[in-house]
Amino acid sequence: MQRTILHLDMNSYFATAEQQVNPYLQGKPVGIIKAEGRGCVIAASIEAKKFGVKTGTTVWEAKKLCPQIVLVPSDMDKYFALTQRMIKILADYSPTLEVFSIDECFVDVTDSQKLWAGGVWQMAIEMKLKIREELGEWMKCSIGISFTKLLAKLASEMKKPDGLTFLTPESYLEETKNVAVSEICGIGYARTAYLHSRGAYTLEQARLLKLPIEIEDLVWLRINDELTTVGGLDPAKSVSRTYATYETLNSKFEILKLTRNLVEEACMKLREMGMCGRTFCLSLDGLPAGRQDFWARVTIKTPTDDPLVIYDLLNKEYEKRPTTGVRQAGVWISSLMFNVQGSMFNKRPNLLRAVDKVNEKWGLFTMYPGVLLGSELIRPEVTGFLGDKWYRFRESRL
Ligand SMILES: [Mg+2]
Repeated sequence: MQRTILHLDMNSYFATAEQQVNPYLQGKPVGIIKAEGRGCVIAASIEAKKFGVKTGTTVWEAKKLCPQIVLVPSDMDKYFALTQRMIKILADYSPTLEVFSIDECFVDVTDSQKLWAGGVWQMAIEMKLKIREELGEWMKCSIGISFTKLLAKLASEMKKPDGLTFLTPESYLEETKNVAVSEICGIGYARTAYLHSRGAYTLEQARLLKLPIEIEDLVWLRINDELTTVGGLDPAKSVSRTYATYETLNSKFEILKLTRNLVEEACMKLREMGMCGRTFCLSLDGLPAGRQDFWARVTIKTPTDDPLVIYDLLNKEYEKRPTTGVRQAGVWISSLMFNVQGSMFNKRPNLLRAVDKVNEKWGLFTMYPGVLLGSELIRPEVTGFLGDKWYRFRESRL
C-alpha cells in the first residue's frame, strides 16, 4: 500500500527561536554561535542567510559578509524544550512519528489523513498554524509530503521558509530533476565529489550515468525506508561525533589521533548523560570520492563509557584495513543504557569522573589524554544527540 509521509522541518531553528524570545532580534540578521570553542556560526537566521552566512561560516567571515550581524550564544536547553512541544503537537496527527533531528520530524499519516476532510493538505496547513500558535508567531516550518521518507524530506527542502510541497508518484522525477546531487540525504561529501568529477551536478545529469547501485538508488530516489521510531522523543539512542578536516589526512598517526579525539568527546557526552554503550562505529571518508570508504562496527557484551576501551576496539578494526587520504571521520556509539554500575574497587571510572569534573569547571579538554598532546584539539559540532542523520541512513542500508 502506498504510504503518505509528512516531513516537517523548522526554518532556521535556533536563530528563529532566539528571535521568538527576544523581539529585539526579530527581523535582524542573527548568527548562533557556540558559547566556547572555535568560532563558527552553527545556525543563521533567515535574514543572515541573505548575506550568505550559513552553518559553518566562521565568525570572522560572517562579520565580513554582514557587519551588522548579531551573534548569540546557543542555548540547547531552550531549543530542546521547544522541540518537545513541537513533537507533542505532531503526535496529535499520528502515533507513528520519527524524530529525525532536533528540528525535523517524519510523520506517517497514511491512515490518519482520512480523518481530515481536506486530507493531508488540510492537516499540514493546520500543523503550521498550531506550531505558530504554540511555539510562537515567529516560528515557521517547511513541510514536505510524499510517499517515502527520502522524498518527503526532499520536498520539505524544496521551498523555504514556510513551504508546503507535495511530490506525487507521477510528478516527483520531473520535479526533482534540477535538485543538486549534494541535497540528497545519503549523498555526502565523498559521493558529491565523485558525481561532480563525472560531470553530474543535478539529479537529471546524474540519472544519465551508469553508477554503483547504492548511488543510483539515491539519484533515482528509490530509497524507501520504514520510519525507525514510533512514539515520542528518545534522546538517548546514540551519541555521534563527526568531523570534516580542512586538509586530507594522509598519515595513520593523524587519522588515529582524530579518531581518539572524537572518541574522547563522545564519551564525555555519554558520561554527562549517565549512559554507556555497547556498539561502536568508526567511519572514514576520503578522496578520491567513490572509492570504498572505511566503515567498521564492533559490539561488545559489557557496556562502557571508557574512551580507552572504545578506542582500542576501533583501532584494532582500523589496523585490519588501514586507509589514508581521510577528509571526514565519524565515531558513533549506540546500544546505550543507563550506567548503573560504578565499582568501588575499580579506579578507572573514578579517574574519568575526576577528569570530567575538571573539564566541567575549567572548560572542555582542560585535561585530556597525553596521546593528543601537540595536536590541535577538535571540538566537533554537536550533531548527534538525536542520532546523526548521516549514520541513520547509512545504518538502515546495511
Ligand atoms: Mg531546519
